[in-house]
Amino acid sequence: MSFKELGLNEDILKAIEECGYTEPTPIQAQAIPHVLMTRDLVGLAQTGTGKTAGFTLPMIEILAGGRAKARMPRSLILEPTRELAAQVAENFDTYGKYTNLSKALLTGGTSMDEQIKKLDRGVDVLIATPGRLLDLFERGRILLNDIKVLVIDEADRMLDMGFIPDIEKIVSLLPPLRQTLLFSATMPPEIKGLTKKFLSNPREVSVAPPASPAETVEQFLVWTEPKKKYDVLEGIIRDEKVQNAFIFCNRKRDIAGLASWLKKKGYNAQPLHGDMAQSARTQTLADFQADKITLLVCSDVAARGLDVKGLSHVFNYDVPMNPDDYVHRIGRTGRAGLDGRTWMLATKDETKYIDLIEKRIKRSIPVAGKGSQKKDDKKPAPKKPEPKKPYDKKENKKYEGKKPPNKKPSEKRNPPSEKRPPHNEQDGDDSVIGFGNEMPPFFGGKKEN
Ligand code: AMP
Repeated sequence: MSFKELGLNEDILKAIEECGYTEPTPIQAQAIPHVLMTRDLVGLAQTGTGKTAGFTLPMIEILAGGRAKARMPRSLILEPTRELAAQVAENFDTYGKYTNLSKALLTGGTSMDEQIKKLDRGVDVLIATPGRLLDLFERGRILLNDIKVLVIDEADRMLDMGFIPDIEKIVSLLPPLRQTLLFSATMPPEIKGLTKKFLSNPREVSVAPPASPAETVEQFLVWTEPKKKYDVLEGIIRDEKVQNAFIFCNRKRDIAGLASWLKKKGYNAQPLHGDMAQSARTQTLADFQADKITLLVCSDVAARGLDVKGLSHVFNYDVPMNPDDYVHRIGRTGRAGLDGRTWMLATKDETKYIDLIEKRIKRSIPVAGKGSQKKDDKKPAPKKPEPKKPYDKKENKKYEGKKPPNKKPSEKRNPPSEKRPPHNEQDGDDSVIGFGNEMPPFFGGKKEN
């Protein structure tokens, strides 16, 4: 199957060719023909499968014929985070470079004036996070009654982030005669309910069953104690050939402390979390993509759905409370068939979350080395990390209990975790909320109903 056979026009084909894509990914091959036929569609697919092009390419084709009126966008794409919205906007720029569609990105954290000016000129494609869109609607800056195509992307994350009431409100403002596409990594009952309510006789396409981490990801677990986490982590980073890595923390307040400690230890590390100004988040990501940053210490929201090519490692500084988060986090590496390695630091308190994760991924995570705490002694013998040097008992010992040299009182590390709030504490924003998603490469199995 080629892109040409899918029925896309020459301008789009030229842009695709320049991207170096030789053939459609499974989700694209399945979704594009239905979207071009203006059918409603439910796509069960994660980021990393090429799903964004699965809806942007046919949308460019569909929208190429008409003209946008002032304040009346012709299509709407809803995204749960600013970063994802920006990524989708980039996709439109890339694939639509030989067509002259106009687009606007409506996300929080950026100037509203610029967004309003764009809307006033008329846009074909509006890419928005729900909050900012409703805000502008309520100020009378935007009319939604000319929307012909609606995309609800990452629907299960929208659910986890509490956006469903906003989505329902937004959909109630749209004309009933429209095409609706909904993409989600998983299909919890709430999302199924949404599809029944908002989509009309949709086709369903899906790739890669949920909760299947890429086979190319090697996973390891290290048991440790809260006070030793910094040193254990640093020991692993030192031993592994880390080209670039995400280090996920459950709590935002741990992120800055860990990032600055790593910086003091001579690593090229930066924090990324939802409380940072949007300009700083964008700059940090650009620097990471440009290899100016090696270690990105981040929250789930900051890294959610981001397409970073060739990430060599993912570290879980904490065990995620939601097993879907684990699958999502480790899916940041091993993408598109590349190898990746993931390490998770676990403390005794986190045993129950490990159990949930292992149940979810249907296998036990090899334990590398023995820390001072173990989950249980009956665990099967650890599989040795190959081909790199195994993280054995002796190795693990040397990472533990070390204090950073010349530590002044002012550089004191985060308080030991005994003082931290219990694990089910949420940060109060979307950065610790779970979401059912995983990021296998797009070589997943096919299914079409
Ligand atoms: P997405 O799932 O939309 O986040 O896409 C994941 C990555 O796959 C992005 O870097 C895309 O540029 C890339 N991609 C999308 N479609 C194709 C394709 N047909 N062939 C190769 N790479 C692709």
